[in-house]
Amino acid sequence: MYKKLIVDSGKRMAKSGLTVETWGNISARDKDGGLVYLTPSAMSYEIIGEDDIVVADLAGNIVDGKRKPTVEFELHLGVYRVRPDVNAVVHTHPVYSQIFGVLREAIPAVIDEAAQILGGEVRCARYELPGTKELAAACAEALGRDGYACLLANHGAVCIGADMDAAFRVAKVLEMTAQIYAHARMIGRPRLLEKEQIAYMHDFAYHHYRQP
Ligand SMILES: [Zn+2]
Repeated sequence: MYKKLIVDSGKRMAKSGLTVETWGNISARDKDGGLVYLTPSAMSYEIIGEDDIVVADLAGNIVDGKRKPTVEFELHLGVYRVRPDVNAVVHTHPVYSQIFGVLREAIPAVIDEAAQILGGEVRCARYELPGTKELAAACAEALGRDGYACLLANHGAVCIGADMDAAFRVAKVLEMTAQIYAHARMIGRPRLLEKEQIAYMHDFAYHHYRQP
């Protein structure tokens, strides 16, 4: 079930426009077994099958799969180690979010969707080389205990959630927010939402926005 989830999510990623070619990577944690399912390294999302998915434990031992895991193996495991609330990690290379990664600036929650889904500004992690333990540490630090996403300096974004749909929702809202904020800065001076307004919308989205 988790292998299929990763295969399907790869196709979803390829169609989403949140990355190009084989960049970006995806993982999910099996809540019951504690194992992590990851995309393989350097393979197109279009051709990845269930046999290509790599399964690892939290200590980093590969327990199933014949492929080499994504180069950001450590980054994915690092998130699961410090965030028991997270069961899906989507690492993307989206254009507008990356503008702020290049500026090494946080993206403020300037629209309602961002306030609701991201719950505040999305911080930018310090620069570290791809695939390193240092990058994994910088990412975990930028996410903190309550972040839903962070930027990787001059590189991309990491979006997380309680499940895969939640992580993809974060990824889409982050890129839309970056796009609107970047354009707003080009033609004027964006007005930011107040902290209390963001907190109100975030609480509403996560605790009250549903059918009874
Ligand atoms: Zn990357």
